[in-house]
Amino acid sequence: MKLISICFCFVFVSLSLSGCNPSGDAGSAGGSDGTIDLLVKGDFVVTMDQDNTIIEDGAIAIDDGLILAVGPAAEIEAEYPAVETLDGAHRIVMPGLINGHSHAAMTLLRGVADDLALMDWLQNYIFPAEVEFVDPEFVRIGTELACWEMLRGGTTTFVDMYYYPDTIAEVVERCGMRALISATVIDQRSPDAESAADSLTKGLGFIGRWKDRNPRITPIFGPHANYTLNAEQLQATRRAADSMGVPISIHVSESPFELQYSQDTYGMTSIEFYESIGFFNGPTIAAHVVWPTEDEIPILVERRVGVIHNPTSNMKIASGISPVADMLQAGVLVGLGTDGAASNNDLDMWEEMRLAALLQKVDRMDPEVMSATTVLTMATRGGAEAIGLGDAIGSLEVGKQADVIQVAFTDVHHIPTYDVVSHLVYVTDEQDVASVVVDGKVLMKDHKLLTIDTDQVRAEANALAAKIKTALDARNATPPALNE
Ligand SMILES: [Zn+2]
Repeated sequence: MKLISICFCFVFVSLSLSGCNPSGDAGSAGGSDGTIDLLVKGDFVVTMDQDNTIIEDGAIAIDDGLILAVGPAAEIEAEYPAVETLDGAHRIVMPGLINGHSHAAMTLLRGVADDLALMDWLQNYIFPAEVEFVDPEFVRIGTELACWEMLRGGTTTFVDMYYYPDTIAEVVERCGMRALISATVIDQRSPDAESAADSLTKGLGFIGRWKDRNPRITPIFGPHANYTLNAEQLQATRRAADSMGVPISIHVSESPFELQYSQDTYGMTSIEFYESIGFFNGPTIAAHVVWPTEDEIPILVERRVGVIHNPTSNMKIASGISPVADMLQAGVLVGLGTDGAASNNDLDMWEEMRLAALLQKVDRMDPEVMSATTVLTMATRGGAEAIGLGDAIGSLEVGKQADVIQVAFTDVHHIPTYDVVSHLVYVTDEQDVASVVVDGKVLMKDHKLLTIDTDQVRAEANALAAKIKTALDARNATPPALNE
């Protein structure tokens, strides 16, 4: 970790003249009076660039959604008068966190069924509850609740997989976050489709409506898994994604059940199966990858499959311990995710970072196997690369999108501070995040959310949850029919 307190301004300012402005016209940056949109300051700026540069008493200059300059605060302030400044006393500035795998609206099913194995949980609780309760209104309220929780905790980008993706996209558009939103493809009756073919057709419609509509929103396909879709259906989804020029997000090698199913059905392990049908020929974000074999890890490297590690979900459902350190060492692109709030039960990326580090250490009985810097990279720059946005987000560098957070280092658990990266991974909580900027827009300032009416979301979520509870209680009180 390189610590820089002086003499960085010239490097970044000179870079900013060419890198800040895609048109190459440096004169067009900023307002007509020479001001830029925003300055974000901090006692430390943790850039997460390739050198892991940290700037003491630093600032980020932001205009028109892009990072113009990064450097010592005094020099950045002198060079870039700004319309708005987020002060940085006792605050760390860093890239927004990237949640690489979520089912956002499942916040409304938080705690509805716990302490079960994956297939029991899915088939006997989650899938039936979803068919019964999930509609566009459920998805709207659940996604708003999730955006509130993620923004509050410093997540600026997420990769979602759920139903009614148009509704998800509308919420993301309003709340100002960045997201890859999957049209779920699954071969069973689901809340928004009757079959794999139906969900694929509807997914094509969603992607057509949202592709190129909002630069913060990337519509993608989300085939569920190789135990809820067969080879032909998976290949059809890959072809559809390729035809639309979009990536795929999918659950891969998540549980022992999936491994057994894959062997029994396809005669090979999951990742070998996907490779055998050409599924990895296009950009793929693979959630979980708990059980890759030694032979499969090179496939992930060669195909540049982005792997998303979800340690809380893997631990809670007892799916297993993903060999993240091995995959990173082999060159796999690995990010972090929360999975849905029904299997986590929150959307706290700080907890995922902490658990990712601790789980590898105890699994390998080696405290050096996963450092704080490695884990912080997975939640930022590494996560961006895993989801295909490495050129746009994930680090605080000139020319990248301005997705920036401030973390307050005022709580007792940050005292004293010897190493900011250590604290960010092993100490910081969601509640420490003070301000959040996405695409150059301030979405949370001094802990106050500016794009989400939290009182309304709280009331709507509690009202809907009360209806769900009443229905579940009634169902549980009714003896099952003989044919069930
Ligand atoms: Zn999932």
